[in-house]
Amino acid sequence: MAIKRIIEGLNEFHDNYFITHRKLFEELSNGQNPEVLFITCSDSRIDPCLITQSLPGELFVIRNVGNIIPAYGTLNNSEGAGIEYAVQALGIKDIVVCGHSHCGAMRGLLQIGNLAQQMPLVYDWLKHYGEPTRRLVLDNYKDAPSDKLLKIAIEQNVLTQIENLETYPTIRSKLYSSQVTLHAWVYEIETGEVFAYDASVGKFKILENRPFPVPNIMTGLALE
Ligand SMILES: [Zn+2]
Repeated sequence: MAIKRIIEGLNEFHDNYFITHRKLFEELSNGQNPEVLFITCSDSRIDPCLITQSLPGELFVIRNVGNIIPAYGTLNNSEGAGIEYAVQALGIKDIVVCGHSHCGAMRGLLQIGNLAQQMPLVYDWLKHYGEPTRRLVLDNYKDAPSDKLLKIAIEQNVLTQIENLETYPTIRSKLYSSQVTLHAWVYEIETGEVFAYDASVGKFKILENRPFPVPNIMTGLALE
């Protein structure tokens, strides 16, 4: 039974990892000071802490179906609350939106008609917030094979969410003073590699030694 395995894992964590990292956990009980907000999909195959080799306390994470950030002004927006808290209260320096290969949400978005009956809540979520990506892909890549369509949808969805992030007053303000940097990433499940959007070439490129931050839309607007 899966839950039995999970409970064994809890015990193993407590008996081993927790003991060897006790000092870290004691320090964390006094507060958190993460410098990175990591936004990714709920998909079980992507683990933000594992792929970035981060310790507890290092990543502030927002996850949902399709790593989607509704634009500012959306009602009952828990993602917006998380972003505001990360930027204002925690002073986050970098925000990563990380999509992933074989994303079921993006696959669902490309065949959205099939979802309405079976999963009306997923349908509503994707129909509303995935529409910019769906429209772009269907209008511009009509004849592309389905695997290429999915790859483009995954990448374009990440870029759409970066633009949505830029609609938040708190982020615009921090971009204006260059206190926050945005990053558009895609994690590839089958290779374990991460690709980052390089705006200078308009492509996602493998992330090795240096980051490819998204150009700051507020640069040049700063007043004396
Ligand atoms: Zn996904």
